[in-house]
Amino acid sequence: MINVTKPFLPDIEEYFEYLRGIWERCWLTNNGPLVNDLELRLKEYLGTKHLLFLGNGTIALQIAIKALELNGEIITTPFSYIATTSSILWEGCKPVFVDIDKNTLNINPQLIEAAITEKTSAILATHVFGNPCDINAIGEIAKKHNLKVIYDAAHCFGTKYKGKSVFDYGDISTTSFHATKLFHTIEGGAVFTNQAELLKKMVFLRNFGHDTNDTFACVGINGRSSEFHAAMGLLNLKSIDEILRSRKKQAQAYDAALETLKIEKQKIQQGAEWNFSYYPIIFETSEQLLKSLEELNGNWIYPRRYFYPSLSTLQFVKKYDVPVAEDICKRVLCLPMYHSLKTEEIGFIARLLLRVQNN
Ligand SMILES: *Cc1c(COP(=O)(O)O)cnc(C)c1O
Repeated sequence: MINVTKPFLPDIEEYFEYLRGIWERCWLTNNGPLVNDLELRLKEYLGTKHLLFLGNGTIALQIAIKALELNGEIITTPFSYIATTSSILWEGCKPVFVDIDKNTLNINPQLIEAAITEKTSAILATHVFGNPCDINAIGEIAKKHNLKVIYDAAHCFGTKYKGKSVFDYGDISTTSFHATKLFHTIEGGAVFTNQAELLKKMVFLRNFGHDTNDTFACVGINGRSSEFHAAMGLLNLKSIDEILRSRKKQAQAYDAALETLKIEKQKIQQGAEWNFSYYPIIFETSEQLLKSLEELNGNWIYPRRYFYPSLSTLQFVKKYDVPVAEDICKRVLCLPMYHSLKTEEIGFIARLLLRVQNN
């Protein structure tokens, strides 16, 4: 069976070593030494100023929205995982969908200004499949209209923009370290910011609002992670360069094997160094996608329809006119991509896809 993704697992003996340390210290969670060490090493590896390791990528989004004290309307993309929209709703704000660019699959900055009203407080955009948004254009619009910017960078571990980690951009960037992501801590996530005040606020928000044992600075939540998750992250970080290299090779193998397949591919933003976190292909029609999916599933291969359906079609959101996103959602498929996927397997997947096309 070949799934769309498969978690990377480090050497089990090395994990046992970390477990022994946890047993000796009997410090399981609440900002233990491994959590601190992981935060330090991530900062070093990514070259980012501040980050907080959190329980998952969804709580990261919610804490970001809380920290920026957003209210009213938040402009966002319909082409993302549901957590991007549900976090906005969960925080009592209203998602306003702006259509995507059909090439980059990211929010189309040219359509943002028309969606701004006096109730708009922020833009929450996803760097889809690790491809950076048009960060300059979004930044200029935000500045002109005094809006905050959050980037959902859940797919972005290893992506750079203009020479820096893409996590460095926006008032706050959030990410996920879920087991399906390129770098994972089983469950986990993080927030990044360059603003010391925001960092301080998020430290409180992550830990029930505690500023001392007996006093509370604000209404917080439990956003923390544990020593066990941090240990997984510390070990996976040792292999991250190898993981990133393997993705690039696999993407090149797919590119070569799929050369004659009638598909479109995502266009990578200028100035970006992409992490190859997914291999999305866009079929000419949704019928072609469905036929291909059936053929692959019949051979125990399970790609995923990322993202489907368009978030603009959820029953609990207001309707907006986003024809490009709703069309792409019906035609896009992410092919299997993980560190141990073999070139022969990529060749097999490609042959099946070509067989469907040529039938
Ligand atoms: C995975 C993902 C999330 C949620 O992360 P969790 O760690 O699963 O909570 C949010 N946004 C996007 C775009 C994602 O892909």
